[in-house]
Amino acid sequence: MQTNFEEELRAYFAACGALLQGHFLLSSGLHSPNYAQCALALKNPAKAAEMAMELKARWRGQKPDLILSPAVGGLIIGHETARAFGVDFLFTERENGAMTLRRGFGLKKGAKVIIVEDVFTTGKSTRETAETAVKRGAAVIGAMSVINRMGGAVTLSSTNPFPTAEGTPHCGFPLVSLLKLDLTLYKPEDCPLCAQKLPLVKPGSRG
Ligand SMILES: [Zn+2]
Repeated sequence: MQTNFEEELRAYFAACGALLQGHFLLSSGLHSPNYAQCALALKNPAKAAEMAMELKARWRGQKPDLILSPAVGGLIIGHETARAFGVDFLFTERENGAMTLRRGFGLKKGAKVIIVEDVFTTGKSTRETAETAVKRGAAVIGAMSVINRMGGAVTLSSTNPFPTAEGTPHCGFPLVSLLKLDLTLYKPEDCPLCAQKLPLVKPGSRG
């Protein structure tokens, strides 16, 4: 069911130019006819704070001890969500391709962590961030994002389990997102936009 908040948020994203149409190369290597440039919608701190408050309002689980986000995409919304919960904010980043905690960030054993991202696409960065936390003895109790476009993700499978539907505690933790987007994803070899010879744009933050 769409709430007014979702409709308003979608309109706000569109007004920011954050919902792009075309032919995009995602960080997963998949192609898509649309792309959400969340940073354009999060550039307004008051709006970012509003989105974070809504994420907190939709959370039905235990209070987290901290919020953990993968840099760079998760930094703004993660920080605002930590503020909304009144807890600390840490971030992971890539070092030689592997997700890790740097900068002296530590996690207490058993600390309850919610992972917060701008967009769930394949779940890869969420999964890697969760693994980073679990390796250090923390407990991942949930994951949140502004946008969820993960439903069509082809990198998720039974051998690589991760929650695939909002609210499904598939892998031990539930997911919360504010906005679901068109989930169309193409493998490069099956991409109809490639077949039409549309120029491929790489809009993401990685690479
Ligand atoms: Zn393509």
